[in-house]
Amino acid sequence: MKRLFPLILLPLLLSGCAREPQPATAQFFAMDTVMSATLYGEDAGPGLVALQQEVNRLEALWSRTRAESDISRLNAAAGENTWVDLAPDTAALLQTARDLGRDTGGALDVTIAPVMDAWGFGAADSFETSSFRVPSQTELNGLLPLVDGSGGLELDGNTAQLTRPGMAVDLGAVAKGATADHLSNLLAEDGVTSGLLDLGGNITALGTKPDGTPWKIGVKDPRDPEQYFCVLSLSDQTASTSGGYQRKFESGGQTYHHIIDPSTGTPAQTGLLSATAVSRNGTLADGLSTACFVLGADDAVAFWQDRGGAGDLDFDLVLVQDSGTVLITEGLEEGLGLGEEEVGYSYEIIRR
Ligand code: AMP
Ligand code: MG
Repeated sequence: MKRLFPLILLPLLLSGCAREPQPATAQFFAMDTVMSATLYGEDAGPGLVALQQEVNRLEALWSRTRAESDISRLNAAAGENTWVDLAPDTAALLQTARDLGRDTGGALDVTIAPVMDAWGFGAADSFETSSFRVPSQTELNGLLPLVDGSGGLELDGNTAQLTRPGMAVDLGAVAKGATADHLSNLLAEDGVTSGLLDLGGNITALGTKPDGTPWKIGVKDPRDPEQYFCVLSLSDQTASTSGGYQRKFESGGQTYHHIIDPSTGTPAQTGLLSATAVSRNGTLADGLSTACFVLGADDAVAFWQDRGGAGDLDFDLVLVQDSGTVLITEGLEEGLGLGEEEVGYSYEIIRR
């Protein structure tokens, strides 16, 4: 196994080298998370302004907490047999999410909202005021019929409806990746072709570094999220990571996290500590990181064998198992940097 970078070099690699041109940077809070952007080139300054406006526009469409958002209006009309008018960007994202849900056998289901709410992970709960609780399986069983993205979420052009009262959409699994796609397109139109976006753990490499080499992206160690355990070389790609460590609470000596298996209504427990999906398509990366975390290593690898590596979907995976073995699909092998032994993982490249 190649060990290209001692971890001590990571900060250097991640921050770039001193001779590089100075970027324009911004950090801001949106979509319930901290976002940051680092842009290079003449148009970087105006690009930062345009980027934040675009994030605000999309949040106003996709938020579950703003009463006027497309998603709130769709949810409020659940079961009323009414087609709700949506912005084309919302309709497109719902379509993509529903397709991905079907592709992953329901592991991704954006109609998970009623179950998220039951656990206190819902939209009304900010990080400060969360009212986490452990719902009984009876309560969950009562809610599961409402989790039905493939059947109960109907789409027609730029309209949609939820067929049963109590159904609700939560775009948390795909919104940040979709936002990354919007931002990449907008920035490319504005002439910004080099930079990095960090939308709450979804890292997007715009083009290459100013010197023409790929961006180096650290993947967080789910056992110690202040550290990175591997480095990926990316250009014009998004790396999305889903992990149980990102949002969780404890009750009765048990830890419960925010990625729910739609078949049971309980936090997915498949032996994965985190799943990272890399794709040129940010929406796909975000949706698949969540879906693969729910699927678990065996099914996620099978899905990659079928649709990724040799198939019709552009994505690669980094799967961290609680056994300590990290599975990395072969599309990420070039420019891969792995932590030294003391990081405590062993690595296996998955090939077609
Ligand atoms: P991510 O951080 O991209 O993995 O997305 C996690 C978020 O997606 C959660 O906070 C929920 O809002 C939502 N979510 C949780 N489980 C699922 C699921 N199985 N399918 C779709 N969305 C989910
Ligand atoms: Mg996701």
